Amino acid sequence: MDPVKSKTTAIKPPRIKGLNDVGRYAIGVQWADGHDSIFPLANLRRFCPCNECGGDDAAAGAQTQRLSQLSRLGESGVYLRWADGHETLYTTAQMRAACRCAFCAGEPERPLTGG
Ligand SMILES: [Zn+2]
Ligand SMILES: [Zn+2]
Repeated sequence: MDPVKSKTTAIKPPRIKGLNDVGRYAIGVQWADGHDSIFPLANLRRFCPCNECGGDDAAAGAQTQRLSQLSRLGESGVYLRWADGHETLYTTAQMRAACRCAFCAGEPERPLTGG
């Protein structure tokens, strides 16, 4: 075992296989490695990586968290356009890093129970 390689979270950007709406307030992403993610729109807006937002969560309110367009940019990125006109571009690596599911968050006290 090589201790340096024991943590293999970011070898290469994961690819997106599928993208879909989950109700009005979230989107679902199916990854090529078999993982599924659900992203609340509020989180995607809050974590918007653009310079304008700069990681601030200044954006608040219904318009800023409502999506008017959702597109895949090939297998390496996702484009979101918000109801207030703001545009967000996520690379798949950024998106995957934003996944807050029990598996990605790595919380041993919250195993996946399957509901
Ligand atoms: Zn932004
Ligand atoms: Zn996850």
